[in-house]
Amino acid sequence: MFNKILIANRGEIAVRIIRACREMGIRTVAVHSDIDAECLHVKFADESVCIGPAQSSESYLNIANIISAAEITGADAIHPGYGFLSENTYFADVCESCNIKFIGPHKTTIQQMGDKSTAKKTMRKAGIPTIPGTEECITAETPKLFKIAKKIGYPLIVKASAGGGGKGMRIVPSEDALKNAIITAQTEAKAAFGNGDVYLEKYLEEPKHIEFQILGDIKGNVVSYPERDCSIQRRHQKLIEESPSNISPKLRKKMGHYARLAAKAVDYFTAGTIEFLVDKKENFYFMEMNTRIQVEHPVTEMVSGVDLVKEQIRLAGGEPLGYNYDDVVIKGHVIECRINAEDSEKDFIPSPGKIESVIFPGGPGVRLDTHIYPGYTVPSAYDSLLAKLLVIDTKREKAIARMQRALSEFEITGIKTTIPFHKTTLANDYFKKGEIYTNFIQKRLYGEK
Ligand code: ADP
Repeated sequence: MFNKILIANRGEIAVRIIRACREMGIRTVAVHSDIDAECLHVKFADESVCIGPAQSSESYLNIANIISAAEITGADAIHPGYGFLSENTYFADVCESCNIKFIGPHKTTIQQMGDKSTAKKTMRKAGIPTIPGTEECITAETPKLFKIAKKIGYPLIVKASAGGGGKGMRIVPSEDALKNAIITAQTEAKAAFGNGDVYLEKYLEEPKHIEFQILGDIKGNVVSYPERDCSIQRRHQKLIEESPSNISPKLRKKMGHYARLAAKAVDYFTAGTIEFLVDKKENFYFMEMNTRIQVEHPVTEMVSGVDLVKEQIRLAGGEPLGYNYDDVVIKGHVIECRINAEDSEKDFIPSPGKIESVIFPGGPGVRLDTHIYPGYTVPSAYDSLLAKLLVIDTKREKAIARMQRALSEFEITGIKTTIPFHKTTLANDYFKKGEIYTNFIQKRLYGEK
């Protein structure tokens, strides 16, 4: 096992990884930008190294500085967390050539799954159902574009091949909007990912976003965990996740089988997620694979009682999985609310700044993953996630009541947050009935048709 792990990340996920390492007896190195010197991950780690100024490109994305920090401190592995360099093949490659273990899948898997249109093609060949769409990337000038689009059928969605975080997507209701949608999606994707490649997909109406956590060992053994429903999204970004979802046990079994098949098709190693969309007739389609630990991983940890970060580290160190998917039990119903530094009452505008005071929720069945504390200043330079509030109870109905209770205790002053949004959503009758799908917020909360 590793002696010392450098965490190439910040915020709540860096704190989460340090906690796992400490319990495993592994020493930790935090890296931070100059404005993050007072962050909790820096306080909690055994050692810390400043890797550059606030701008991510100069610090958390600065491969040379991160590798130097690992070498100076003698770290034998790097955990990339999520975002930043977690799905960067070049970074995984540099780690390998410097003899530092990258805690993630093989670099070829990251590459294969990083490009969404290639990932879909790989999955289709492995026999996994994929959303109908173009096999190759297209442009507004692609010959027979309208014919191709008509064959898939409107409404369509233009998606960026390098996509992430809901960027580079455009819904196309009809032919007259197609060319413009392609051009705007290309421009957005180029600006966000440095790659403007886009492809077309059938736009599914009111689907559920259902994803499966998977773990794989070096020998090719794979397990899948009970699914997470991540349908409560705004602008294609998740806000509430829960597990299990309200799909039938038969479908859960079938989708779990396909998730494991998908993972095996790319020799999946360590922790990853297979994302599917499920339509009203319970048809399901592979959407993408995330080759890292995800923001919402604690949902699965709570529902199964397994520490996924420890598992990820253990597997990266070459240990065997040692159990099967049917050994995984569902311990109750879990809900997670993402608390962001955004004003949910003013169109979710970012709300960075100093946190004057905080009252944290607690009590039975509550978990809070956060890096904030009274007096902490939320910078505008990074993502707005402040905390993940999770609850578990025996049934969904009880978990909703518990989450409402926990939200009512949670008080953050000095900045605006998404706590009011969560209170409204949890009180919504359709939410309570479990009638949730990816357009829920527009249709049920903001009353759009
Ligand atoms: P990202 O990597 O940017 O998160 P995803 O491919 O995971 O992008 O899609 C994010 C969300 O966008 C999905 O959860 C879903 O709400 C929506 N979406 C993506 N593709 C489709 C589709 N073909 N039909 C309907 N909604 C879609």
